[in-house]
Amino acid sequence: MGVLLQVTIAFQCLLLVIGLPLNRDDLFNSTLKPKGVMDNILSVNSKLGVDYFEGDILLHPASNEKNAIVDENLKWGEKIPYVIHSQYDFDDRELIKDVLREYNVRMPCIEFVERGNEASYLMYTRESGCYSSVGRMGSKQTISIGVGCETKGTIEHETMHALGFWHEQSRYDRDDYVDIIWENIMEGKEHNFNKYDETQITSLGEIYDYSSIMHYGPTAFSAN
Ligand SMILES: [Zn+2]
Repeated sequence: MGVLLQVTIAFQCLLLVIGLPLNRDDLFNSTLKPKGVMDNILSVNSKLGVDYFEGDILLHPASNEKNAIVDENLKWGEKIPYVIHSQYDFDDRELIKDVLREYNVRMPCIEFVERGNEASYLMYTRESGCYSSVGRMGSKQTISIGVGCETKGTIEHETMHALGFWHEQSRYDRDDYVDIIWENIMEGKEHNFNKYDETQITSLGEIYDYSSIMHYGPTAFSAN
């Protein structure tokens, strides 16, 4: 592991521990860069006709969107309990477990653990499409790995949301890196291109990452 990656991990651990919201996946910079993760998620959800915020984010009904990501309650402790629904077959269960094992190795400050009796935990379930809430919800929270979402990249992406990461193009400095062509966006879908100011998310001082697994593809929500 390179020095830069170690420094990045240490910094991100610190932010996770103090509860600052995140939007990066630099932890996986060097090895995990599955292409088209977000395209696949949007395609699966679009075919199902399900409409989640920014394509795959479940907004918490009890919190308003603007304050939600700086809410103290949204941070996880060191242990992140999870359950994988019994509806999954052996291969899909192992796929989810593989992703969590990889997180445990690469993110030494947190640990995904099988749930005991914790009130707050992740429930990997086959609901309609691929989605997750952003951050810790304080009770059972669903990460839906529905039909078509059973890929490593998608499971990583939705798990990153649950850890507190937003989409890459939500960064406050994104206009320095990408052009949003507003007239090409499907009518009524413009809110999926919101960006958040520095009190809401942090770029961690990292450069903009076009190939992040948290980034939309170039034609996301395009009318054409
Ligand atoms: Zn997403």
